[in-house]
Amino acid sequence: MLLLYGLTLLLGLVLGSFVNVLIWRLPRKMSLGGRSICPECRAKIFWYDNIPLISYFLLGRKCRSCMKKISWRYPAVEAGVALAFLILVAASTKCFTSTFIDSSPICEWFGSLWVFSYPYYLVITVFFVTVFVIDLKDRIILDQVSFLGFAIVVAFLLLFRPDFYEVILSGFASASFLLLINLFTKGRGMGLGDVKFALFAGTLLGWPEALVWMFLSFLTGAIVGLILVIRGKVGLKSQIAFGPFLVACVYIVFIIGHYLAKLLYKF
Ligand SMILES: [Zn+2]
Repeated sequence: MLLLYGLTLLLGLVLGSFVNVLIWRLPRKMSLGGRSICPECRAKIFWYDNIPLISYFLLGRKCRSCMKKISWRYPAVEAGVALAFLILVAASTKCFTSTFIDSSPICEWFGSLWVFSYPYYLVITVFFVTVFVIDLKDRIILDQVSFLGFAIVVAFLLLFRPDFYEVILSGFASASFLLLINLFTKGRGMGLGDVKFALFAGTLLGWPEALVWMFLSFLTGAIVGLILVIRGKVGLKSQIAFGPFLVACVYIVFIIGHYLAKLLYKF
């Protein structure tokens, strides 16, 4: 078990390093091949200065050639991907013993995918963190990320899950619901990027968890927005990116969505 968790952390850090590349290059429409360069001085970064988490601290948080500070975002993303991946792997081991999560989306997937759930979790973690950080930074959810995520989830669905039609329907239902809000608010309350992301997230979650996910996203978005307005961080008319809430909530609902659904049902 310790070996599994160690391997998971290590793989998560390496993939986190890749997510940093995606976060930098995708919004700039740069190719994903080629060696990493320092964004300040454009010096090539050698492999020994590109070891996840470790290099950042060994270099004293500075670029070796221009000595400019390296953003804390890089190690944070690496650690974040590793931790998110580790939690999914650890949660799966509880699927047969914990009534708290045993009917949640993660266990529905784990029950069908078995060993294949490992690469599956890795891929969706990469998508989650990429969408989260790019939307926070650039206020956009990229189409290619949402559609590729959707395609991967559908491929796994068709290969492994007999209930695939219901699950795909919940993706389209979520996207339609957010599209309605987009139309009613004339795009102010909800961007089309959020709508396309819902196709990916809704299909991942299935029903009724997709509904819980949308509810929870609106709730947390409204609460955080209200706190920011009260503390004077943003104006009443300004918009905050909704994507980070959608991503954080899809992650939570993926693991404990069934429990939350029961909780909501009681109200
Ligand atoms: Zn530099």
